[in-house]
Amino acid sequence: MSPALRATAGPQSRAIVVGAGIAGLSATVALRRAGWDVSVLERSRFKNEIGAAITVPPNATMVLDRWGFDAEKAQGVPNIATSGYEAATLECFLYEEFTDIAEAMGAASWSFHRVDLHRGLRALAEAAPRPGEGEVDIQLGIEAAAVNCEEGIVTLRDGEQVQADLVVIADGAHSRLIESFTPNPTTVVHTGRSIYRWLVSMDDVLADPALRALYDPATTLPGFKRYREPVNDVLWVTYTCRGERMLNNAVVHPTQPGEGGGDEDQWHSAVAPEQVLAMLEHFHETPRKIVGLANEDGIKVHRLFKRPALDSFVRGRAVVVGDAAHVMLPTHAAGGAIAIESAAALEVLMRGVDGRDGEVMKRRLALFDRLRLPRCNLTMLASNAGPPWLAVPGVEEEVRKYYDGPLPPAGCLPWTSEFREALFHHDAYRVAEEMLARD
Ligand SMILES: Cc1cc2nc3c(=O)[nH]c(=O)nc-3n(C[C@H](O)[C@H](O)[C@H](O)COP(=O)(O)OP(=O)(O)OC[C@H]3O[C@@H](n4cnc5c(N)ncnc54)[C@H](O)[C@@H]3O)c2cc1C
Repeated sequence: MSPALRATAGPQSRAIVVGAGIAGLSATVALRRAGWDVSVLERSRFKNEIGAAITVPPNATMVLDRWGFDAEKAQGVPNIATSGYEAATLECFLYEEFTDIAEAMGAASWSFHRVDLHRGLRALAEAAPRPGEGEVDIQLGIEAAAVNCEEGIVTLRDGEQVQADLVVIADGAHSRLIESFTPNPTTVVHTGRSIYRWLVSMDDVLADPALRALYDPATTLPGFKRYREPVNDVLWVTYTCRGERMLNNAVVHPTQPGEGGGDEDQWHSAVAPEQVLAMLEHFHETPRKIVGLANEDGIKVHRLFKRPALDSFVRGRAVVVGDAAHVMLPTHAAGGAIAIESAAALEVLMRGVDGRDGEVMKRRLALFDRLRLPRCNLTMLASNAGPPWLAVPGVEEEVRKYYDGPLPPAGCLPWTSEFREALFHHDAYRVAEEMLARD
């Protein structure tokens, strides 16, 4: 018997989660808290854990807090300011502090090294269950090939089949399982943009007097610092992570010939510093120095994709979450956060449910769609529009198909107050509990 077949044994409500990224692990933590047993099938063996950093805003840290995620242990750095500079002159065009974000929105905003966030989530998923919680079994090196959504059957790459009361599809932006899930257009489209990413020791940054003037923690609040350069159409975003000992760098730029390889995630494609410096030719010499300080992992390049919005995240006994459900550009640094929000909704809606009761499952999953389509599709469409936002023809009309709340005005930049309010001021537990109470 394949170890995966354990998913079919016993009387407890059971879920199979495909993919153990941020979305899959978050759904796993949520479902076990709701009393479900969960089998996680993950294709990789996590030998090369993904580097670089991730910002987690209050809509998601509120959920992590409830789960007991230890942000201090994960060496989180508060993200409490955003600033923007013209790349050539370093003239400041934007500065906002939001040191009160935790009080204003009910939870803090953190930046983590991705490995630290991922390990923290995995530890929560695999911790000994408390009374009322389900059991979790994470199996690495197992690839799902297809899913029969109506029956809750997952077919593995070797042809074996496993069945559960709920299948959570969390296989990322290049999801294969989405083909079994929806008749909608499913192909991800390369946006023509790619991203250079690397980490730098803050000791090295601060050893340089000119860089110290930009990044000195004694005079600078931690958060986003971005440089925009219109000639080559480049946006470089930096922020600190891992206890402020590392500086994360992300340079969004037009994809150059040979960058990024095939369609699959290319987090591990290396790029030469000379190529990055060529793209940054119009930048002021001070931030350009950061390219030469890349740590031992070097600089990686990753192509950016998008996909049209889905009209439903639910089919039969399957639900799709994370990048598999909403492929987006990193404009608002919000894709992982919205997946954590979706997990909170699953927790509320699946709590105390007998997964074999088809009618109850159908009703609860319909509620999941009502809760998550507006939030996820707003976040995705805002991210994919980029900074021009509502100035992009058709974007407002598309957003209004899913979301009827207030929208930040055209010209509003990522992480400024209106976007923080629209995207990150959200209590997913409260909203789900209220919807459930009304049902
Ligand atoms: C440059 C960049 C910066 C970003 N910054 C932020 C940020 O600051 N804040 C934020 O909230 N979000 C950010 N995001 C978005 C965030 O990283 C993603 O939304 C998030 O990582 C998606 O997680 P996921 O679990 O859906 O997908 P993935 O992380 O792609 O996980 C999918 C998992 O499924 C596994 N898998 C795939 N296929 C199969 C299969 N057939 N069978 C079994 N397993 C399978 C994969 O091995 C993988 O482990 C950023 C994204 C990018 C590209």
